Amino acid sequence: MAAEATPAGFEHMGLDPRLLRAVAELGWATPTAIQAQAIPLALEGRDLLARARTGSGKTAAYSLPLLQHLLRAKAGPAVAQAVRALVLVPSKELGQQVVGSLRQLAAFCARDVRVADLCAQSDLDAQRPVLMEKPDVVVGTPGRVLAHLGARSLSLRSSLELLVLDEADLLLAFGFGDDIRALLCHLPKIYQALLMSATFSPDVEALNELVLHNPVRLCPPEPRLPGSCQLRQFALRCGTEEDKFLLLCALLKLGLLRGRALLFVGTLARCYRLKLFLEQFGIPACALNSELPARSRCHVITQFNRGLYDYLVATDEEVPAVPAVPSKQPPRRKRKAAAPAAQRQGKDPEYGVARGIDFQNVAAVLNFDVPTSVESYIHRVGRTARADNPGTALTLALPDEYEALARIEDALAEENGQSTLQPYKFSTEEIESLRYRCRDAMRSVTKQAVKEARLREIKEELLNSEKLKSHFEDNPRDLHVLRHDRPLHPAIVKPELRHVPDYLVPPSLRGIAKTDLKKRRRLPCSGASRRRGGSRPRGTGNPLQSFKYAQRRARRPPVPPS
Ligand code: AMP
Repeated sequence: MAAEATPAGFEHMGLDPRLLRAVAELGWATPTAIQAQAIPLALEGRDLLARARTGSGKTAAYSLPLLQHLLRAKAGPAVAQAVRALVLVPSKELGQQVVGSLRQLAAFCARDVRVADLCAQSDLDAQRPVLMEKPDVVVGTPGRVLAHLGARSLSLRSSLELLVLDEADLLLAFGFGDDIRALLCHLPKIYQALLMSATFSPDVEALNELVLHNPVRLCPPEPRLPGSCQLRQFALRCGTEEDKFLLLCALLKLGLLRGRALLFVGTLARCYRLKLFLEQFGIPACALNSELPARSRCHVITQFNRGLYDYLVATDEEVPAVPAVPSKQPPRRKRKAAAPAAQRQGKDPEYGVARGIDFQNVAAVLNFDVPTSVESYIHRVGRTARADNPGTALTLALPDEYEALARIEDALAEENGQSTLQPYKFSTEEIESLRYRCRDAMRSVTKQAVKEARLREIKEELLNSEKLKSHFEDNPRDLHVLRHDRPLHPAIVKPELRHVPDYLVPPSLRGIAKTDLKKRRRLPCSGASRRRGGSRPRGTGNPLQSFKYAQRRARRPPVPPS
């Protein structure tokens, strides 16, 4: 997303000086397209139906008018404290992000605006005291908000003035349609509503009919992913599973992939397989998946955004298709049918990692497994090249994934009027010297090791989750308390795999690879650049360095010691 220059800068929108100060502190010079359109209209009190993808700056597009509304409403003498605004989000992770964003923007009026995060704790009872204090804004999933309304720990009928539905298409895709409909019965007759959605599907239109009153429709001309000068997208067709692992090993171990990366896989088992494989090479990575407790997941994301980890292996599971039109069919029944299935497997149905989360400072997205749809591809790849940072996406495909990859390539080409996914020019011959080690590492990561790792991590994270709870109660500002990238060690780690001796480094990279690794570790991630969404990857903006291979044939590497 490039913040477009517009005649209406933030300072001309009539925003409270405390909000303008927060915007300046975040380093935002100009409003993005959606902000420029939405903020003035929302401040006039209009209902909005806005098409805005994650990464477009949509959170601030509704948060700034929301905060301004609250400051105005509370400006008079002896105004009663009440829940005036409700933000509905599709997942706990996204809720946490929205809360973080609201708190950042309200940093200079924090005493006047209290934000309640119903996504942070899983226990209804634990959230009751917070709600009893009548926070100004409540952020939660429709299911959680409805549960509180039903339990009478939250009442909105006489106080709600502003309702936001964030990522409305995902709210419906995640099966919250019926909850939203039930929730509307608890709202007053008149309130302002802002609906943000990446797409205007028929289901979103149906929701619009239900929730919005004569809305202004906003569709800033924006492609779903940034252009090729900001986001470079590559695909590599691999011959075998081993080639995939070999390439990953080379990318990370030889420092070919610079900066921090998200590695997406399709299943839980693959998530741990990859984590354990990297562990074999002494590369720490955290796992993120629906089996982990919500508090740990949110903590992992926060720590990643603070620059504590370089690599995050995320499982992007298929969202079960749930018919979503709220008024015409009984999605509650369907959702109930889907949710227990997920829960039976220990998964959280409110997990949505690739979707909508603002992972900051991500230089590259690596689709280790090909996503099953173009939507899923866009959600994953949209985690890099955020705001005005450059980014790179690389998708690795096995022969049985070629078809899915071709579908994505065709869809993107059609959408952009030109081919978008470039072949990643890479010769595996150059890295043959690493194959022996890669095979060795893969052999150590047995099915049993993966199973053990999965159990161990979940057990540890459940304990962590309790520790996090009590620790944060005492130290609300301390988020560095636990790490999530510790080795799991169910497989034997061979120390020799950690170090790549010079004779295994491809000739074209000798002298570069190690220096890069050292440099990367030193990359700072602090100050204004982090506040703006992270430090810019250095150099060309393309963290993937193709080998200079074309003219020369690789020297045969010496046979590695057995
Ligand atoms: P969102 O689409 O709300 O998830 O925002 C995506 C990213 O853009 C976040 O990291 C924001 O901090 C950043 N952002 C939001 N508004 C602006 C702006 N006007 N200028 C630069 N970055 C922004």
